Amino acid sequence: MATERTFSILKPDATRRNLTGKINAVFEEKGLRIVAQRRIQMTQQMAETFYGVHKERPFFKDLVSFMTSGPVVVQVLEGENAVAANREIMGATNPANAAEGTIRKLFAESIEANSVHGSDSPENAATEMAFFFAGHEIVG
Ligand code: GDP
Ligand code: MG
Repeated sequence: MATERTFSILKPDATRRNLTGKINAVFEEKGLRIVAQRRIQMTQQMAETFYGVHKERPFFKDLVSFMTSGPVVVQVLEGENAVAANREIMGATNPANAAEGTIRKLFAESIEANSVHGSDSPENAATEMAFFFAGHEIVG
């Protein structure tokens, strides 16, 4: 297995409840390394572009409004098979379906306010991390 990088966001419900350290501890305990991290306020335009694949979905407007409702922490995580590993660590989109011990089972409030974003493929991970980070800001 190769070392890989994935893109992650700690969403506004996580920053609002002061959970960034607890969630980062889960990543680190499970073997992912935080190799870039920045706290930002997303603009509407950033959120619409970032979630562009969902623009025809009924929840798109609510999602953009939620993602701009407070600060987020954007991150790059590194580790063995990081994209798939992080999807496992996060758990299912809907916390009601998330496995025990996953971040969404532990912390998510709802299907929308589900505490974390994680890239769903290596290709999307590359696009998403380039959207927020310059190469020199990612230090493995
Ligand atoms: P993810 O890859 O597990 O984050 O899920 P998706 O890519 O399908 O959806 C992106 C984000 O949109 C999710 O993480 C949720 O924040 C939100 N979302 C997904 N499905 C729904 C839904 O049915 N209703 C609402 N309100 N939000 C949703
Ligand atoms: Mg997704």
